[in-house]
Amino acid sequence: MTHSPELPIPAAFEELGVEHAILRALAEIHFVEPSEIQRRMIPPVLAGRDVLGQARTGTGKTAAFGLPLLQRLDASAAFQVLIVVPTRELAVQVEGEMIRFAKHKHTRIACVYGGRKVLHDEKAMERRPQVIVGTPGRILDLQIRQLLPLEQVRHLVFDEVDRMFDIGFRDDVRKIINSCRSQPQMIFVSATISDEINRMVQQHMRNPETIFTAKPEDTLTNAKAQQYYAGVNPWDKLRALKLLLAAEKPGLAIIFCRTKRTVDKVAKALNERGFNASAIHGDLMQNKRERVMRGFRHGKINILVATDLASRGIDVHEITHVINYDVPEDPEVYVHRVGRTARMGAGGKAYTFVAHGQGQMQTEIEKLTNVLLEPAQIPGFTPSPEPNRRLDRGPQQSTGRPESSGSPSSASPVEEGYAPTSFPSTPAAPAAPRPIHGRFPTRRRR
Ligand code: AMP
Repeated sequence: MTHSPELPIPAAFEELGVEHAILRALAEIHFVEPSEIQRRMIPPVLAGRDVLGQARTGTGKTAAFGLPLLQRLDASAAFQVLIVVPTRELAVQVEGEMIRFAKHKHTRIACVYGGRKVLHDEKAMERRPQVIVGTPGRILDLQIRQLLPLEQVRHLVFDEVDRMFDIGFRDDVRKIINSCRSQPQMIFVSATISDEINRMVQQHMRNPETIFTAKPEDTLTNAKAQQYYAGVNPWDKLRALKLLLAAEKPGLAIIFCRTKRTVDKVAKALNERGFNASAIHGDLMQNKRERVMRGFRHGKINILVATDLASRGIDVHEITHVINYDVPEDPEVYVHRVGRTARMGAGGKAYTFVAHGQGQMQTEIEKLTNVLLEPAQIPGFTPSPEPNRRLDRGPQQSTGRPESSGSPSSASPVEEGYAPTSFPSTPAAPAAPRPIHGRFPTRRRR
């Protein structure tokens, strides 16, 4: 196939040492300029170095490791590159990107993840792929079945490794690393790098090249995302949400809730009010999740109500709004949620509902991201008085758990009408402007 004259080879990628077959593919998908993480990561990965790369979500990490690894692999050997990701959605997305990059290389790429028949993945392994993208549990399962010879892996990537730790894959990560006895080239990428990740890297990497693309004075969230908070009582959240959506008229929005049950409740309430919303969480069958994601990607659904776990890997460029219906439990989760909007240079807005007693978490978020959230005005919204407190239910009796705990779906205590203390009649506002110091996260909050 000859290269189309109207598609010039992206010279900036060529200067990084990217080979012609990949440059052609990049031209076709209109990658002209490498992002910072790509500029800094491609050369050391091409040189065979172990790399620890930190970069915000949506800044092109997949190409940063994917392009040089495609170039490095030996066409004659199978099971060479293993890319481990935390969720099925991200696995599908990374596979899709790799297929696009490898268009003129004819590399066999497979994607494996839990939640669908093992038979499917068994067939995929029989085709002896050179690149495998997968979730930890399924990768180990295939190894136990002797279908995925991890000892043949020469390049091992852990994508979003901070999230993998959060959702309990720590042991699986270690098992995978220990099974790759061939001392593969190791690449870890992460939006945030905690002490813990650093420690693990020291153990498993040889003389790694460490790349931080966020400097202490930078924000971790995308500067193009306008970030707001609104003080909203737990019992007022649905009403505030509907008013916010009516005022903002988002093109595509993701609403994050803490539990699967809240996700279902919010999606149902929005549909009843005529919004075009769908729920996505880990209890849905895989094909239903894929259907919802397709609908969202193609604009047939414009509001996705999601748990954090289900949101990993949602790479839809036109997401205009992220709404944190429930405050994330960890400031790093906030970074990931807000990273769903304002991707690759587009604009976007993020709103966070902050209830009484959650100001500290807001401060933690602001310190981590180095962004002071602006107070939001929700047109038509006034706080309502606290409904009668239900004395039969306190937080200790609540079964509310975030989805990532893997527990059965349940409601958050605040969704059940419980509030820790009475709530002021005006929206909660931070007591005083908080000084924000450019702080780079080195400690993980537990
Ligand atoms: P990632 O951070 O890898 O999820 O990438 C975010 C989105 O940006 C994906 O849709 C990529 O296809 C796209 N992308 C990555 N790098 C570039 C680039 N250099 N030029 C244009 N788009 C890019």
